[in-house]
Amino acid sequence: MSKGDERIEIDGSEGEGGGQILRSALTLSLVTGRPFRLHRIRARRVKPGLLRQHLTAVRAATTIGAAEVSGDELGSTELVFTPGSVSHGDYTFAVGSAGSVTLVLQTVLWPLLLAPGRSRLTFEGGTHNPMAPPFEFIAEVFLPLLRRMGAKVDARLVRHGFYPAGGGSFVVEIEGGHPLVPLELYNRGAVLRRRARALLAHLPKSIGDRELRVVRNELGLERDEVRVVDVDSAGPGNALMVWIEAEHGTELFCAFGERRVSAEQVAARVVSEVRAHVEADAPVGPHLADQLLIPLALVGRGGYQSYALTQHTLTNMEILGRFLPVRFVVSDEGKGRSRVEAHPRE
Ligand code: ATP
Repeated sequence: MSKGDERIEIDGSEGEGGGQILRSALTLSLVTGRPFRLHRIRARRVKPGLLRQHLTAVRAATTIGAAEVSGDELGSTELVFTPGSVSHGDYTFAVGSAGSVTLVLQTVLWPLLLAPGRSRLTFEGGTHNPMAPPFEFIAEVFLPLLRRMGAKVDARLVRHGFYPAGGGSFVVEIEGGHPLVPLELYNRGAVLRRRARALLAHLPKSIGDRELRVVRNELGLERDEVRVVDVDSAGPGNALMVWIEAEHGTELFCAFGERRVSAEQVAARVVSEVRAHVEADAPVGPHLADQLLIPLALVGRGGYQSYALTQHTLTNMEILGRFLPVRFVVSDEGKGRSRVEAHPRE
């Protein structure tokens, strides 16, 4: 048996013990051709096992990679995945609920970016969900960094989908097979522009006005830097987003309106994340820090400066190192900042 055929065994309760372990394993299995068995899936979650969003990611990975899979059922806590070869093409992936489809994109993006040929992906489900990247984060923060690495990829929102109604959609166009260069994002540079948007679907404008009042008071944004945007969606929804555009990259912070949580409380959540980011004077925020690990691992070099590395990020490093000959070196750069670098492993 060659090393490429050896099945990787992963305990899903390790580290952070959530859905990212599954998504990273699917991505890396497709890219490397190495099969894996994942047991105790999402063991550290209140409702362990595969939720609809995770199952959609498994099915999407199975489809693009002609994989053999067992355990691909709702609630399943064990999955065996044996990849075939990845085919570019036109695909539609629907969660069938308000589950996040940006997380499904995270799973299939890399295999299709590396495989030569054009792909057109349509995602249907939740585009603006708590605990997942909102569409704008993908389109305006994450993908521009991948383009800087040489990737040819674009995304276009068709319709917003908020929890719980879902019904959103976006399209991603990929021209795969372009070589990737390492990303080096060690300095944020000066903040050039800030802006805030309060998205509202089927909710009164006053909610957005109240959120933006807090953002203006607390962060000092000017009137022309904030706007309430009424969007079309299947059900009600509210997202408050603040962009921090700096010399070397953009970051986006977001919180969602919820029942029994005041507009002011929603705004306070975003304000504290933005403050932490601006004060840290590092280019990469906590969410981007974990999402950049896959591109670093695939190229085997490059790195970034961040702050407050999450357990999510540390677990992801460990999983990626099982599939690829890469090691991540984390060093303390003072003032709560960390430098993360990918190095080839001997
Ligand atoms: P589980 O329920 O098992 O935790 P999950 O699959 O729903 O799993 P996580 O494993 O927590 O989700 O992963 C969520 C992903 O969404 C991570 O990549 C995280 O960085 C990203 N994410 C969460 N919130 C945001 C946000 N506000 N902006 C950008 N990315 C986000």
